[in-house]
Amino acid sequence: MGEILPFRPPVPAQFGRCPQCGGATGVMNIGKSHWVYCKVDRTKWFVGCSLIARSKHEGPAQWLANSQRLAGFREVSPAGGSSINHDRLKQTE
Ligand SMILES: [Zn+2]
Repeated sequence: MGEILPFRPPVPAQFGRCPQCGGATGVMNIGKSHWVYCKVDRTKWFVGCSLIARSKHEGPAQWLANSQRLAGFREVSPAGGSSINHDRLKQTE
């Protein structure tokens, strides 16, 4: 199990911020998908695909580890951020 490889802070403002605390701990990649997460509130939100050059350290094992970590986080709509379609998120609220 690899450790989380955080996107070096600060997380870009267009990725939005945690609706609970206004923070953003980092970005985790699962394949081409990027998720920003807040480890304080255990929230996560999807920011898009193929926006960030992926690390050479990443691969299926890392993505699996990331997805398992994120599985315990609550999916939320971020505060601020860009024009991501959150319709899918709203259906779960
Ligand atoms: Zn938070």
